[in-house]
Amino acid sequence: MGMEEVIGPDRLLSLQFPGSLQVLADHAGTSDQPPDLLIEHLCQLQSSLEKTYGQIPGRGLAVRSGRAGFKHILREFADELGLVRLEFRLMPGTCRLEAGSNALAKLFNQFTCQHVVPNQDDQDILWLMDHLTSGAHGQTESSACQFAVGLLQEAMYWLSGGKTFQVEEIQCASTGHAQCKVRIRKKPIQ
Ligand SMILES: [Zn+2]
Repeated sequence: MGMEEVIGPDRLLSLQFPGSLQVLADHAGTSDQPPDLLIEHLCQLQSSLEKTYGQIPGRGLAVRSGRAGFKHILREFADELGLVRLEFRLMPGTCRLEAGSNALAKLFNQFTCQHVVPNQDDQDILWLMDHLTSGAHGQTESSACQFAVGLLQEAMYWLSGGKTFQVEEIQCASTGHAQCKVRIRKKPIQ
């Protein structure tokens, strides 16, 4: 849905995996464990942005799709993830960022082809990501990771009540690293 908002329904249809849209549409609005097919299709859709639009524009569109997608995640899963509980809302700022990151990682592990291990130190929250299907992460496709970057940018904005944080992928499996690593600076930019 985030991707549709960014590139428009027609262009979404023209991406290379027409069958996936129906699978996605059928599954939308449910929180059941998605079929493997759906997970595979989500991966392919993310990677196909880069194949279709080129590396730099594809990654930019993936970031924007991730950002646009966060509100849909919030709508579907905020309760389940505990993000609207009073206890959560009363947490100090940094704890809320960490707890939100952990909750989203759990969601990623359930619904996407990326396996995320969230981690942190004093300054940063880190997402270590493995890609579970061989087709999901070709040698040159990192748009699947950029989708996560966009989603985390928007999530941190929401979790902090309107602050902007630096979120970037600092190493990627597409450039020969064993894992992808996304870093979120805990200190806001503004
Ligand atoms: Zn990556």
